[in-house]
Amino acid sequence: MDIFQKVPQGQNMNNHGYSVTKLVADKVKQLFEEQPANWELARNNYKALEQVKVKTLDVHGHVYKVQFNPARIVSSAAKVDPESVRERPCFLCNDNRPPEQKGILFKERYTVLINPYPIFPRHLTIPALEHTPQLIASRLDDMLDLAQQLDDYVVFYNGPKCGASAPDHFHFQAGNKGFLPIENDPGWEHLIRIESENKQDILDRFQQHYDALPLQSDDTEPMLNILTWYGNSKWTSCIFPRKKHRPACYSAEGDANLLISPASVDMGGVFITPLEKDFEKITAEDIARILDEV
Ligand SMILES: [Zn+2]
Repeated sequence: MDIFQKVPQGQNMNNHGYSVTKLVADKVKQLFEEQPANWELARNNYKALEQVKVKTLDVHGHVYKVQFNPARIVSSAAKVDPESVRERPCFLCNDNRPPEQKGILFKERYTVLINPYPIFPRHLTIPALEHTPQLIASRLDDMLDLAQQLDDYVVFYNGPKCGASAPDHFHFQAGNKGFLPIENDPGWEHLIRIESENKQDILDRFQQHYDALPLQSDDTEPMLNILTWYGNSKWTSCIFPRKKHRPACYSAEGDANLLISPASVDMGGVFITPLEKDFEKITAEDIARILDEV
């Protein structure tokens, strides 16, 4: 029996949301205590993460890290074309998830789960309850609430053609703060950065940018990645407009090949290489080129 799902989030809610904040954050902490003990895949992959190789590069004066993370091949090499997506069982639907994977209900609309293929020492996947496409427009409010309630985390969103490995099932992700270089580097290029203590202000300004971004012909939303976090009584939201899903090096032949499929985490300053050869050879120039390209 799933002890987390027996108590709907919001049950003890007051008008300020304080107890809810404690409730969700505390349950997530508990999840990270219990899941590795009871779920072999998560235990092994979080253990393996402690050993991953990391190197630091200076890209035009900004710190970027590169993480060699073989378990992430499932995401970096995921086939996300409509036909492949239609033909596979959705791994974010409740019925298809591993029986060991426990969830915490959030806003009666999402389940907070431990990501069994982590990049962060604490990495969450937060799918919508229903199988519905990846589209941010009506959900930024939820993203801001999530960031406020999980204020030890950076919450992020990958558009359906910008790194989401399940473009058919809406989901956010979150990773513990103190990991992404972008958190401490307000001078970052390639992004729109919005800060405010007022949630409506963030929503309004996001909408303005969203409306101004180009929409490619057969797309449902402008291509983007979003990172959001909450701290010192304010939200920070970083929007990365995208023009390309995967860089040319992703499909290049021979020595030019780098299996890198950039998503929010890469845009936030941690490039993920599932292959060791790529980890060894990637340079600051490669990262600068990939960022310009995508
Ligand atoms: Zn689904």
